Amino acid sequence: MGFARSLLLKASRSQWLARQLRERRFFQRAAKRFMPGETLDAALDAAAQFGKAGIGSVLTELGEQVTNRAEAAAVRDHYLGVLDKIQRRKLPAHISVKLTHLGLDASREGCVQDILKLAARADQARSFLWIDMEESRYVDATLDVYRRAKSEWSNVGVCVQAYLRRTPADLESLLALSPAIRLVKGAYNEPADVAFPRKRDVDAAYFQLAERLLKEAARQRVKPVFGTHDLEVIGRIRQAAGEQRLNPSAYEFHMLYGIRAAEQRSLAAQGARVRVLISYGSAWFAWYMRRLAERPANVWFVLRNVV
Ligand SMILES: Cc1cc2nc3c(=O)[nH]c(=O)nc-3n(C[C@H](O)[C@H](O)[C@H](O)COP(=O)(O)OP(=O)(O)OC[C@H]3O[C@@H](n4cnc5c(N)ncnc54)[C@H](O)[C@@H]3O)c2cc1C
Repeated sequence: MGFARSLLLKASRSQWLARQLRERRFFQRAAKRFMPGETLDAALDAAAQFGKAGIGSVLTELGEQVTNRAEAAAVRDHYLGVLDKIQRRKLPAHISVKLTHLGLDASREGCVQDILKLAARADQARSFLWIDMEESRYVDATLDVYRRAKSEWSNVGVCVQAYLRRTPADLESLLALSPAIRLVKGAYNEPADVAFPRKRDVDAAYFQLAERLLKEAARQRVKPVFGTHDLEVIGRIRQAAGEQRLNPSAYEFHMLYGIRAAEQRSLAAQGARVRVLISYGSAWFAWYMRRLAERPANVWFVLRNVV
């Protein structure tokens, strides 16, 4: 892993740095590149705009590592309210949640119950519930919660990370559930025995997993979503899907708000299914540091805002 990436990911876990930087105007201005605003309404308005361009959305409130049940219950209630608003405004929007935001560390069973409530409400609202994947120490618990949710509700998907050495085996074990899978490269700081340290190995693993997903999609055993801004990989996925004669509606591309915006529109105009993940909320420090780590050149963007 690059030194700058590793440093930024370590910094993302520093409470001290979060306190130092979060209140600085230049840092707030730089973070705004990746979010339409801190409020839910700003995110819903952005989702409505994307909807007009034929692009769906996935909404996520920033936050993680909640360790008490009362706070986790408030997060669940917040998302229930989001689903109400999605339904009322008839938005083509899904939600995506982090299990540690829903108190996974406080109570796994409590977290399962909250996920079941969210899946039920998402179903009523004709929406969809995505579960993010966090650090590797949460993978077993996350997949376990996903299995429980998927056994009761069809409109639930989970993210898997190509950088993890274990992911091909996890994917095989999930296939029996006819899952919805969002494949990403992976955004956290992981040791080399757990995750590929070299980017080229991660990229190769990503495409291999993508091919596996496309093959299963052709048999209607999985709903694949490719969460990436890597245009080369997107081109190869579309070509492989074409070779399998897969209908473009059988898979989707998801990208983050503020990254590759022109390509999001152009892919949608070409008939691909595209969604943009829109983040909002005030707890953006760790999340923003991960965006910097994905492309350390973004640090210049922060520095430009200082002057
Ligand atoms: C919809 C979605 C959901 C995600 N959910 C999760 C999750 O649950 N768990 C998790 O670990 N990770 C998640 N990620 C993050 C993911 O793991 C990667 O860190 C991130 O997508 C960057 O990898 P990439 O596939 O875009 O490829 P890269 O090879 O990193 O990037 C390809 C190109 O995209 C552009 N790009 C990428 N990132 C940035 C950036 N931050 N700023 C500016 N340009 C950029 C650059 O031009 C770069 O050359 C998610 C990503 C997306 C798009």
